[in-house]
Amino acid sequence: MIFDCKLCGQCCKGEGGIFLVQGEGERISSFLGIPKDEFILQCCELRNGRTYIKTSPDGACLFYDPEKSCTIHPVKPVRCELWPFFPANLKDPDTFEAAKEACPGIRPDCSHDEFLREWERICLKK
Ligand code: SF4
Ligand code: SF4
Repeated sequence: MIFDCKLCGQCCKGEGGIFLVQGEGERISSFLGIPKDEFILQCCELRNGRTYIKTSPDGACLFYDPEKSCTIHPVKPVRCELWPFFPANLKDPDTFEAAKEACPGIRPDCSHDEFLREWERICLKK
């Protein structure tokens, strides 16, 4: 296994933030039991033409709970689902090395080639 999430929450904190793609606002607001407009108003901010989930004052995603981890796990955005198979990590071995440093869930001795093979295997299963 090359990836086993340790639920450390590291990727739910820090710069950048998580933006939503089509349909995710509806899914998350429905999960939260509030209208989409209210979800956008309360939980999101618009930046560079995209809708991002807001962060708390400590820099963590609004939906990150230190005890429970992601509180919207069943409907979390595709970017959160995809990790660590982000395009940048797939494309660039150096970016993948940096991702390994940041994420304890990626097996430290996993090579970029092995990472690519794992992604191919996942894609074939879909
Ligand atoms: S940084 Fe990696 S191990 Fe930690 S919660 Fe995120 S994906 Fe999981
Ligand atoms: S939506 Fe969930 S998994 Fe994604 S950054 Fe927020 S707390 Fe983390």
